[in-house]
Amino acid sequence: MRDPSVSRYTAGRLSPIRRAADLRRLRDEQFDVLVIGGGVTGAGAAVDAASRGLKVALVEARDLAAGTSSRSSKLIHGGLRYLEQLELHLVHEALTERGLLATRIAPHLVRPVPILVPLPPANPAMRVWQRGYYGLGVAAYDAFAGVFGGGRGMPLHRHLSRDGARHLFPSLRAEKITGAIRYYDGQMDDARLVVNLARTAAAQGAAVVTSAQVTGFLREAREVVGVRVRDLEARGSEEFEVRARTVVAATGVWSDDMSEMLRDVGVRPGLRVRASKGVHLVVPRSAITGEAGLILRTATSVLFVLPWGGHWIIGTTDTDWQLDRAHPAASARDIRYLLDQVNEVLDRPLTTDDIEGVYAGLRPLLSGEADSTSKLSREHAVVEPMLGLLLVAGGKYTTYRVMAADVIDQAVRRLGGEFRASRTDQLPLLGADGYAAAWRDRQDMARRHGVTTGVVEHLLERYGTLTVHLLAMMAADPDLAVPLEGAPEYLAAEVAYAALAEGALHLDDVLTRRTRISIETAHRGAESAEHTARIMGGVLGWDETVRDSEVKHYLARVTAERQSQTMPDDLAADAARVGAPDVRGLAADRRTADLLEADLGSLPNL
Ligand SMILES: Cc1cc2nc3c(=O)[nH]c(=O)nc-3n(C[C@H](O)[C@H](O)[C@H](O)COP(=O)(O)OP(=O)(O)OC[C@H]3O[C@@H](n4cnc5c(N)ncnc54)[C@H](O)[C@@H]3O)c2cc1C
Repeated sequence: MRDPSVSRYTAGRLSPIRRAADLRRLRDEQFDVLVIGGGVTGAGAAVDAASRGLKVALVEARDLAAGTSSRSSKLIHGGLRYLEQLELHLVHEALTERGLLATRIAPHLVRPVPILVPLPPANPAMRVWQRGYYGLGVAAYDAFAGVFGGGRGMPLHRHLSRDGARHLFPSLRAEKITGAIRYYDGQMDDARLVVNLARTAAAQGAAVVTSAQVTGFLREAREVVGVRVRDLEARGSEEFEVRARTVVAATGVWSDDMSEMLRDVGVRPGLRVRASKGVHLVVPRSAITGEAGLILRTATSVLFVLPWGGHWIIGTTDTDWQLDRAHPAASARDIRYLLDQVNEVLDRPLTTDDIEGVYAGLRPLLSGEADSTSKLSREHAVVEPMLGLLLVAGGKYTTYRVMAADVIDQAVRRLGGEFRASRTDQLPLLGADGYAAAWRDRQDMARRHGVTTGVVEHLLERYGTLTVHLLAMMAADPDLAVPLEGAPEYLAAEVAYAALAEGALHLDDVLTRRTRISIETAHRGAESAEHTARIMGGVLGWDETVRDSEVKHYLARVTAERQSQTMPDDLAADAARVGAPDVRGLAADRRTADLLEADLGSLPNL
């Protein structure tokens, strides 16, 4: 439980000092629930458990959202496709979550995005049928959200003529459509939402430690009673034991590794997860003229073209992946496939020269239901392969809260005692409280702080009402009020804040997940690396050697990714990508967290 004398914001600050303190707690305390995995499922489970009054720890091997949860299509959606497959319960569940996230839990991070369903050319009878079929589907989608969704949080759909569709999306080839239907779904920055969840868990008293890899389970008789953790930031990556009454593994495509760690006792895993790779391209907004997104049908699945600030996100592919799960690589074939698909409907075809960024993620699919990956169920499962250990996997980002409640319900049943039912449907994340009023008053806020309204809008949409902390930092230090080198849409203050309050420990954490510079710039963050390292180093106490090593690792990663994207297939792309090792776990010459702690007393107390 959080110390009531400490404000919720201070308690939710993932600072270097907090990491040192939480590491100590891991060694010294016994937790009710220890969650493995800082993706959306694990961070959601930590919020759920901590807000019920349980004593919680969350450990993540790399960075928050470093796995699949920073590599999605960034939609909070019911899934029109599931409606077509008549999986109505899934659509209902997801639309309920969409409404909650957009109106109550994270209105600062989840916003409506308009999406067009283009209606292809057909004879008159077919045209009537198409409009009826898709129109009914989209109407049902809205109705589900409105009637059962507990607050839609999205505008209603609208039918458009061919001219209407081309007015909204001039780049659509005229001969490819007879009209369109515009509907809305939620859009979010997936990595930022996870960081916000982890901070909300911390604000509720959870210990949250990244760069903390679980290497094995502690067992007594036939029960799991904790885990062994390796601190990847410490000299020699030392290991220690953490005791917990229940361990929850929310490790996505690494779920099978958890059961593997118990192989010697002959445990049946209960669930198996297979990985399906999804690749997205990022192109500049100027490459396509349109005011809405598109959803296009492909031979095996669907393709989204989604507006993303000054860019478009185009994706995704859906292919089996059995290679490096930490760094799934996009091949030239994946990129060609996406360009071919999108060029079917665009008046000016995109080429590889248009591409600013590429990212690949792995869907954690519960295996066994069907042969083809796109037909496998996205539903989740919770299993208890051994007393004291719960595995939760599958599902999708949108329904993280349902997965979290399910697994913690099971943990609570096991723990016994008087714990509340899940109440995360009532719990706004940090930065959500007072967001509507702050957005309304954004011009006043800009005037008061001597910045432009554009700056305040940018910050509000990324930090919600926590924006005041960034504005205070900028006022205190003019060096933080400047744009970041190589990525002027971001501010230097955001880098400092990421290291100070959002748990960022490495350059990659900031350039890839706290900001999206690694996919939003043609240089992929290379031109921002030095400046970012200087700012981060100021907060984290990096000397020149560490700064240089961070920059070198980041640049090596960019080079390896670029190379992999020229390779003809997965095998070659993977071989090129694994050439650049992770900076985590290589920190032999870094100062330890204890030393940092002694130094950091002078940081602003936000
Ligand atoms: C291409 C693509 C597009 C998608 N688009 C959408 C979308 O638009 N909307 C939507 O709702 N869903 C979408 N999804 C699905 C969604 O992104 C995933 O279901 C979700 O992110 C999975 O989250 P997770 O927390 O279960 O897994 P992850 O995010 O992978 O988290 C698991 C974490 O466990 C950690 N871990 C593993 N082993 C250990 C260990 N030994 N010790 C400590 N930590 C460990 C990993 O480092 C990782 O961070 C998409 C998925 C993909 C691949």
